[in-house]
Amino acid sequence: MSKTKPLNAAVTGEPKPFDLNEKRFYLPGYVIAADCPKCGMRMTRNVGDNYLSYPKANKPEDVHLCCNNESGEESCDGEAWVPVIVNVSLLLADPQP
Ligand SMILES: [Zn+2]
Repeated sequence: MSKTKPLNAAVTGEPKPFDLNEKRFYLPGYVIAADCPKCGMRMTRNVGDNYLSYPKANKPEDVHLCCNNESGEESCDGEAWVPVIVNVSLLLADPQP
C-alpha cells in the first residue's frame, strides 16, 4: 500500500508542561555536567544510562549531580542541582519513503 502525500500538512501549537509518567527516562546522547562546589572537579551525569525519574516535559527541573572525587583523604561529598528542561515538541518532518 503506498502512502498518499499530505497536502498543506501543518503542525500547530506550542510545547506545554506535562508529566512524562516514566519511572526510568533515559536520554541517550546527553550528559549533564557542572563543577563540584567543594573541590572543583568536573561532575557529570550521563542521562543515557543514569536515568531521570518521572521528569516533567517542557518545564525546568533540577537534576542532582554528585562528586565522585576520591583523590583526597576522604571522598568528596560535593553535590549540585543543575536546572534542565526536557524539551518535547512536535515538528513536521520530511515525508518518509
Ligand atoms: Zn568534589
